[in-house]
Amino acid sequence: MHNTRLCGIIFHGDVTMKITKQKGTRDIILEDTKIWQYVEKNIRDICREYNLNEIRTPVFEATELFARGVGDETDIVNKEMYTFLDKGGRSITLRPELTAGVVRSYIENGMMSQASPLKLWYIGNMYRYEKMQKGRYREFTQFGLEIFGSSSYLADIETICVSYELFKRLGISDKVELSINSIGCETCRKKYIEALKAYVLPRLDNMCDNCKVRYEKNPMRIIDCKEEKCKVELENVPMITDYLCDECRSDFEKVCNTLNSIGIPYVIDKKIVRGLDYYNKTVYEYTAKDLGLAAGGGGRYDKLVETLGGNTTPAVGFGLGIDRIVLLLKEYNMCENIGESADMYFTIIDDLAYPKAINIVNEIRRRGYIVDIDICNRSFKSQLKYADKIKAKYVCIIGEEELKNNKCIIRNMNDGTQSEVALDVCDIIKGIER
Ligand code: AMP
Repeated sequence: MHNTRLCGIIFHGDVTMKITKQKGTRDIILEDTKIWQYVEKNIRDICREYNLNEIRTPVFEATELFARGVGDETDIVNKEMYTFLDKGGRSITLRPELTAGVVRSYIENGMMSQASPLKLWYIGNMYRYEKMQKGRYREFTQFGLEIFGSSSYLADIETICVSYELFKRLGISDKVELSINSIGCETCRKKYIEALKAYVLPRLDNMCDNCKVRYEKNPMRIIDCKEEKCKVELENVPMITDYLCDECRSDFEKVCNTLNSIGIPYVIDKKIVRGLDYYNKTVYEYTAKDLGLAAGGGGRYDKLVETLGGNTTPAVGFGLGIDRIVLLLKEYNMCENIGESADMYFTIIDDLAYPKAINIVNEIRRRGYIVDIDICNRSFKSQLKYADKIKAKYVCIIGEEELKNNKCIIRNMNDGTQSEVALDVCDIIKGIER
């Protein structure tokens, strides 16, 4: 037994004991990394083509940002945040979502003076202390887009186009269902909440404790309660869509009509209210039906910039769960042959050949090829074995004889055919491309 003291905490135990990853976290390694890179590449391509700006914000923020920005009655803020005091006594939180951070940055950096609308996208890790299950982690990654400065329904459509395009490019658009709803503006919501509360009040005793709290603090969240007994009570609950004001109704119709005319399939789900407080008007979710998992969600949040201290600025955005997208790709075998293997592996018979070989290798690399070379001084046989293991497409063999004659042998690892070419960058590349 051995005790170690670090940062004031005493660790008991054997110092040689294996340290394992924290609950709810994962290492993304080897083949999985290739799938992640594949998804990220598609995201970057789409964002480039849509002329969106990337934003990177800190992983930790003042706790107050999420209490105010996400809503202190949400599960995220109430139960799931990683919050701690730093050494200066500040209350810090690891971001549980990224919209609030992007809005903070938008205000703090005066981005309202940029060309409007301003479209900001991100890929980032989030942290929520959640109960673990398949596809639910404590550290997970989202791809998100936030558009500031457009109150038009066309901005809502643009966010749906971007998110849908990702599923389409990855070949899984038919595996996720897009559900949309409108939760109206403050005016229509006020009338609706009165009607909702009037309906729920006589039934509240039969409903879960969460719903009792929501009744007081955030009644709309009652609608998407997953408890069976609450679902029964809510069978004939009034729906927000029946209370929309003319503007909200017209906007929602335009969103639906436009989706119809551009061929993005969706269903209207009047029960979607979204978990976070800040949404208004259009809200939507992507669900991987077969897996029973939410793949992403988004909506309009016209009041958030103001809530966080900025000028009134309409905004709309989404967040998609990359972990779940990767899960989907694996589930439906959509990621076979993803990732690249080496175009060529250079074997060197002895390290005297290294200086000449590495200069050629580096030049071929500069021309965009993936090239690997022995760095272990291993036997020729072991080098070939390694080349085979890493699935190199070709091997370039430089033996003593070849080195003397300024030649090399190129072996096609697929069919075993070999040819002798000059030890020269262009000739070797020609050999690969045959
Ligand atoms: P939310 O910010 O809760 O609307 O989540 C947006 C998307 O992020 C969800 O639809 C999921 O795809 C993903 N997501 C949320 N929480 C988790 C989690 N704990 N683990 C993995 N993915 C998550």
